[in-house]
Amino acid sequence: MANPCLECGVCCTQFRVSFYWGEADDVTPGRVPIGLTERLGPHRLMMKGTGGSAPRCVALEGELCKSVKCGIHLNRPTPCRNFEASWANGQPHDRCDEARARFGLPPLRPEDWLDPIYSPVNPPPENDPDLPEAV
Ligand code: SF4
Ligand code: SF4
Repeated sequence: MANPCLECGVCCTQFRVSFYWGEADDVTPGRVPIGLTERLGPHRLMMKGTGGSAPRCVALEGELCKSVKCGIHLNRPTPCRNFEASWANGQPHDRCDEARARFGLPPLRPEDWLDPIYSPVNPPPENDPDLPEAV
């Protein structure tokens, strides 16, 4: 399935990402890498890079609005797991739409989650990595 978040990433540059300290992997193995966090208070951590006036999470890799990925996707903290992309689960979400609008991106549509259907009138791009090798 297509994942339009991999061509966006703007929500990782607009919020302070804070969470309970027990989510870090020094306490709970396999969770958020402690080295990518900062202490926010007695009971909270935040992702490095998300605390200033121009946040960008340290775990975000790639070029914003073009090609990005979360470097700790499987171990990302709760606020990231709870942030829902519009139409990923069948309904729009204001926070996603608003985050995209701040970068001039339109709201996602249901069809943005569908793989493209190629045809003679809608040919695939020449370098589509998802296409099989020519034989
Ligand atoms: S942990 Fe991943 S999903 Fe969460 S803000 Fe950072 S890059 Fe984005
Ligand atoms: S703003 Fe929405 S579309 Fe963009 S990465 Fe975040 S959840 Fe995905």
